[in-house]
Amino acid sequence: MDRRAFLAALSSAALVPLGQTRPPASRLILLGTAGGPTPKATRSGPSQIVVVGDRGYVVDCGDGVARQMMIAGVFRTMRHVFITHHHSDHNADYGTLLLLAWGDRLKTPIDTWGPPPLEKMTKQFLEMSAPDISVRIRDEGRPPLAPLIHPHEIHRAGAVMKDDLVTVTCTVVPHPLVPIALAYRFDCPDRSIVFSGDTAPSDALVALAKGADVLVHEALYVPGAPGEPGSPLRKHIMDSHTPVEDAGRIATRAGVRTLVLSHLVPSETPKVTDEQWLAAARTTFSGQIVVGRDLLEL
Ligand SMILES: [Zn+2]
Ligand SMILES: [Zn+2]
Repeated sequence: MDRRAFLAALSSAALVPLGQTRPPASRLILLGTAGGPTPKATRSGPSQIVVVGDRGYVVDCGDGVARQMMIAGVFRTMRHVFITHHHSDHNADYGTLLLLAWGDRLKTPIDTWGPPPLEKMTKQFLEMSAPDISVRIRDEGRPPLAPLIHPHEIHRAGAVMKDDLVTVTCTVVPHPLVPIALAYRFDCPDRSIVFSGDTAPSDALVALAKGADVLVHEALYVPGAPGEPGSPLRKHIMDSHTPVEDAGRIATRAGVRTLVLSHLVPSETPKVTDEQWLAAARTTFSGQIVVGRDLLEL
């Protein structure tokens, strides 16, 4: 244990009354911080994980999520998977993550949560993967995968799930033309963390994030936005996403302590420096601002 960890353990131990056990602290790891459907050389697709104790809650499954979880040392913590919406940058590795976890050593249930048609997508992914799954069941003695995966479709804002460590709620955010896009809030034993998913500036998100400790919000740097001004691509980007200054406004209105900028657009080209992201968010938010990068732990 290094000195900082020792001091942290000492100070937290001092606050716990005798005979009580302190609930585990939450970890938030940004697994992928690029926005948009194309693969990137320097960032993985959007994904993050909240780990409380030994239990992991994955939010979104962008390109490379399984490998990022392995690098972060949290691959085997996965217990729940949440999808914000069905754009490929958020769900491309949804099935792959489940399949690779099973190929590793998964034997226990995984619950998955997200907008329709999550059940159909799960079923069809398992059907597509049947040649691999059936061979490994016979060859390696793996348990059947399908009975381990429990998809749950979310149709509206409200309660999502609750266990002894975490309460998850959601709201519906505007992200045209996606029928249902969700933002999630995780109330953990030690703090609350909100994920905007993809959204245009949203009052519903402000309400969901009210008083949260951490808001992970998507961010668009308008001077570097993709597409020519007036083009369909630029119109889609502007209608569906949140300029970084507005992400700051939302953080201010919600009264959060820390704003984490992620799902960065552009994420590589043209290059936007951390200082530029920070300066833009600082115009509208005076709390702590973190510019997301892959594998950053908060
Ligand atoms: Zn996206
Ligand atoms: Zn999207």
